[in-house]
Amino acid sequence: MLDLPAQHAPLQTALEAALQRVMQAADFIQGAEVQLFANELGAYLGGAHVVPCANGTDALQLALMSLGLQPGDEVIVPAFTYVASAEAVAVLGLKPVLADVLPHTFTLDPAAAAAAITPRTRAVMVVHLYGQCADLTALQRLCQQHSLALIEDNAQAIGATWQLPDGCSVAAGTVGEAGTTSFFPSKNLGAFGDGGAVLTHDAGRAAQLYQLANHGQRPGQKYVHHCVGLNSRLDTLQAALLRVKLPHLGAWTAARQQIAARYDTALGDLPRLRIPARQAGSTHVFHQYTLTLASQTERAALQQFLKQHGVPSVVYYPTPLHLQPAYQHLGYSPGAFPVADQLCRTVLSLPIHPAMPAAQVSYVAEVVQAWAQG
Ligand SMILES: *Cc1c(COP(=O)(O)O)cnc(C)c1O
Repeated sequence: MLDLPAQHAPLQTALEAALQRVMQAADFIQGAEVQLFANELGAYLGGAHVVPCANGTDALQLALMSLGLQPGDEVIVPAFTYVASAEAVAVLGLKPVLADVLPHTFTLDPAAAAAAITPRTRAVMVVHLYGQCADLTALQRLCQQHSLALIEDNAQAIGATWQLPDGCSVAAGTVGEAGTTSFFPSKNLGAFGDGGAVLTHDAGRAAQLYQLANHGQRPGQKYVHHCVGLNSRLDTLQAALLRVKLPHLGAWTAARQQIAARYDTALGDLPRLRIPARQAGSTHVFHQYTLTLASQTERAALQQFLKQHGVPSVVYYPTPLHLQPAYQHLGYSPGAFPVADQLCRTVLSLPIHPAMPAAQVSYVAEVVQAWAQG
């Protein structure tokens, strides 16, 4: 599904130099490279403030903490996502209120989000699943109409852009009050361990997020704790390694998009499967290339056929949030989110990564073709 050693091989000398630098400086926590990385990523994302933290789940938690919500306040979360999106809400004593997603783009359905609003709703957490933005124009309008904060879980779509109604393009994760990203090794910009960041255009919120992630302290002011915070920092070592990788993110994204275009051409007109749809207004950075099959049986058949031919494939995600054991207390009935249910039974992601040789892409496409036409 991905080949990190191949992706890192051309960078080996630079990565080793970064490692040596940090070993010599020995500034392992909040070293100079952390802020340098934050500045460089912020510039890449069109001038956003970037507050690095320990992982993408903490980033979501920090973004929510910066909103000053009260226990029991509700946050709307898509029913079809990685569990971290809802976990960050629940762990703060807030209530995740689930809403269904759209069948073709896999992201939060603005109409379902609107229907989930109650007097306790304070925020909408949108997830840019698989590498493209949800319908941010509709969701931002909804949030403005109801005075709700918009939080973007951008763990999977770093570098994607969204076209605002005025025609300007902005980076995914910088449209709402706060956005997040993850540097989990398999993400499009992956560290050599855990890492994450919160993104915001608001300098005041960025300063507050820095405090929240650093025991309530301000930069350079030790042992004065202005708020109850977390210990959630990006290691200097990870920041130094990410600084080596960041300049390549654009080319890696282009490589992913090229592979997706080749899959589209090869698989677009086949019976038995649907290629991923594009959300108008968004670019797609193809964290995943995800097919939709007609049924769970069909998916199992394709997955088995791929396996027999040496091709890996993965189901992201097999269970919707409302059917997870940890979220039974939310009290949803099994059929509450039919689209999320159906997608959990029918999606299948194919291998896609920047170091994937063209011959492998062709081979995967041929195997899928053989199955669909066989
Ligand atoms: C990876 C991911 C996260 C969590 O990131 P971690 O760094 O692993 O904590 C959150 N949301 C989504 C959609 C993700 O894919």
